[in-house]
Amino acid sequence: MPEVDGAKLLARLGDRLTDVRGRLTPDAGMDKITWFRTGGPAELLFQPADEADLSAFLAALPEDVPVMVVGIGSNLLVRDGGIPGVVIRLSAKGFGQVERSGETTITAGAAAPDKRLAAVALEAGLGGFHFYHGIPGAIGGALRMNAGANGVETRERVREVRAVDRRGAAHVLSNEAMGYSYRHSEAPGDLIFTSAMFEGEAAEPAEIRARMDEVQHHRETVQPIREKTGGSTFKNPPGTSAWKEVDRAGCRGLIVGGAQMSEMHCNFMINTGTATGHDLELLGETVRARVLETSGIRLEWEIKRLGRFAEGQGVEPFLGRG
Ligand SMILES: Cc1cc2nc3c(=O)[nH]c(=O)nc-3n(C[C@H](O)[C@H](O)[C@H](O)COP(=O)(O)OP(=O)(O)OC[C@H]3O[C@@H](n4cnc5c(N)ncnc54)[C@H](O)[C@@H]3O)c2cc1C
Repeated sequence: MPEVDGAKLLARLGDRLTDVRGRLTPDAGMDKITWFRTGGPAELLFQPADEADLSAFLAALPEDVPVMVVGIGSNLLVRDGGIPGVVIRLSAKGFGQVERSGETTITAGAAAPDKRLAAVALEAGLGGFHFYHGIPGAIGGALRMNAGANGVETRERVREVRAVDRRGAAHVLSNEAMGYSYRHSEAPGDLIFTSAMFEGEAAEPAEIRARMDEVQHHRETVQPIREKTGGSTFKNPPGTSAWKEVDRAGCRGLIVGGAQMSEMHCNFMINTGTATGHDLELLGETVRARVLETSGIRLEWEIKRLGRFAEGQGVEPFLGRG
């Protein structure tokens, strides 16, 4: 498999992209973006200036060039061979606005941190957003992952989502069209969400603040939030918690190379300092195999794995896809 080559791709795209206003970076290190601080380069990283720039870029991009979108990288495992094609990351300047847009609604750009939405809701006296205070991603990732915590999920708050497709056409999706289920959206995979309107309900700021503090306190005590991690590695299977099954299978603290299942919260993988994407994925697949052996449960990855293995590497999915 050839390594990614950003300079070559940029040269090939040359004239087509002369009107682009955003930033193009060949061979951009994904280890600088992901929370795991691992992963090979994006062949070409594009940070559009605004939605019109994103649309124009996608319309001009040849159809055979693969496109992937990332947010803050708090749920991503990038493989060591890098990501072929274009990786899009929305800029805070063009997509980071969060503002009250109606009596009970807030509109947030997809690059805005979830925490910012929680803070604006607090200022506006709108309840139902406290859970975002503890999720370290951005709105685009929350919309795609149906991010949730403390008994609330994104799908309960979203009213309308703006998006751009692979050809650059704009779309507006209703809550139903997002096709939400646990940590999943059925919205077409090529859609890049650019902003969304959320709805809350009037609440006392002191009460909202107290719930946000609770969320923060809970995180500090049960999750390794100061480590290089990707959040929950596996989705909770029906009727049980992923961490319980990982623990039962004896995988708390399990180490592969520089990767470890956290001692503090054993559904979190951590990079102890030298982990490669390969170490992390091999650890995850080892855990899946042991859990299957121990309890007959097929854990599904919650973390998104992107890109190619490096030359000579590979991780057999012990249990097939998922
Ligand atoms: C310490 C820690 C705690 C966490 N706790 C929680 C938790 O309690 N609940 C929870 O749900 N998650 C949790 N997570 C996981 C993660 O924060 C969420 O999934 C978050 O929503 C991901 O957002 P992101 O911007 O980091 O997206 P990324 O990790 O960059 O991407 C995740 C997915 O979203 C897609 N995506 C990103 N932006 C866009 C966009 N603009 N348009 C379309 N698709 C997009 C990507 O392609 C990818 O498939 C935690 C993570 C960490 C590290």
